[in-house]
Amino acid sequence: MAKILAVGEVANGVPKKATREITSVGKALGGVDTIVFGTNTASGAAEVAKHGADTVYTAEIADYNGEAYARAVAKLVKEKGYDTVLIPHSWTGRDVSARVATLLDSAVISDAVELSMDGDKIKIRKPVYSGKAFVNLKSKCAIQVVTVRPNSQPIKENAGAGKVETVAVDTTTSKAKQVSFTAQKSNRVSLTEADIVVSGGRGIKGPENFPLIEGLADILGAGVGATRAVVDAGWCDHTLQVGQTGQTVSPTLYIAVGISGAIQHMAGMGSSKYIVAINKDADAPIFKVSTYGIVDDLFAVVPPLQEELKGLLGK
Ligand SMILES: Cc1cc2nc3c(=O)[nH]c(=O)nc-3n(C[C@H](O)[C@H](O)[C@H](O)COP(=O)(O)OP(=O)(O)OC[C@H]3O[C@@H](n4cnc5c(N)ncnc54)[C@H](O)[C@@H]3O)c2cc1C
Repeated sequence: MAKILAVGEVANGVPKKATREITSVGKALGGVDTIVFGTNTASGAAEVAKHGADTVYTAEIADYNGEAYARAVAKLVKEKGYDTVLIPHSWTGRDVSARVATLLDSAVISDAVELSMDGDKIKIRKPVYSGKAFVNLKSKCAIQVVTVRPNSQPIKENAGAGKVETVAVDTTTSKAKQVSFTAQKSNRVSLTEADIVVSGGRGIKGPENFPLIEGLADILGAGVGATRAVVDAGWCDHTLQVGQTGQTVSPTLYIAVGISGAIQHMAGMGSSKYIVAINKDADAPIFKVSTYGIVDDLFAVVPPLQEELKGLLGK
C-alpha cells in the first residue's frame, strides 16, 4: 500500500476545494496525511481531517513561496517515509510539484483525472493530445509525485484520525520572494474550482459584450472563462483563458458562448461533465463535444436565457 502525503492550501482557515479533493482521493486509495500551507491553518485542519487525513501538518505562511513549500514537503517525505505525493494541478501546484520532484530525485506525472491502486503503486489515467486520448501510467520512481486535475475527484466525508502537527516553513534561503499581491476585485467563484463555467469566444464581437457572459455567469453562480482569441484581443483578463495554454477546468456544466471549439480550447475544458454550446454555425467543432447545442445568434439567445434563469432561480 502506498504511503500518501497530500499537499494542500488553506486561506484564512478555509481549505481550498482542491485540497479536499486530493485528501478524499488519498483516503480512497488507502489512507492519507495532508500538509496545508497558508493562513490560519490550525482552524482549517479539522475540516481537512473530515475528508480523511490521519495527520494534518499545518504550515503557516502568508505569502506563496514555491521554493519554501517544496523544501517543507520534501523534508517531510524524507523524515516520515512517504512514497507518494499528491498535489492539485493548479497554478501553484504545478510550480510546487516540479520543485518537489527535483528535491526527491523523482519525476512528476501531471494532470491525473483517475487514480487507483495497482500493487504498491498508483495507476494514473490522464488526458493526452489535448484530450483526444487517455493514457494509463505508473511511476517508476521510488517516490511518485502526481498532480491531480481540480474538480476531477469527488469530495467525500470519510474522517481520518485528524492528528495535528505544526511544520516550519523556511523562506530565508529562497531565491525569489513575493514583493506585492493584488487580489482580483471579484466575488465570483474561482474558475478552476467552479462547478459551472460560462465562457465567451470571439462570437461576442467585442469587449462591450463581455458583460453578457459575466451576467449569465452571475445568475448561475458560475466562474467566467474565455478563449485565447478573446484574451489576446484584450476583451477580458488573461487569467480567464481556458485551454492548452490557459487554465484547465473540469466543471459539471460548461457553457460555451460564441466559441468555435478549437482543439487548443477543448484541451482545457473537454473533461467537463456537460457541455452546452451556443453558436450560429451548425458545423462548429464545439458541437461535436457538446451535450446540448443551440444553433443561433448568441445575442438573440443569451438575454432571454438570462431572464428565464432569473425566474427559475428566483433572482
Ligand atoms: C500553440 C497554441 C495554443 C493555443 N492555446 C489556446 C488556449 O489555451 N485556449 C484557447 O481558447 N485557444 C488557444 N489557441 C487558439 C485556438 O487555436 C483558437 O484560435 C481559439 O480558441 C479560437 O477562439 P474562439 O473560439 O473564440 O474564436 P473563433 O475560432 O473565431 O470562433 C468564434 C465562433 O463564434 C461563432 N459566432 C460568431 N458570431 C456569433 C454569434 N453572433 N452568435 C453565435 N455564435 C457566433 C462563430 O461561428 C465561431 O464558431 C491556441 C493556439 C495555438 C496555436
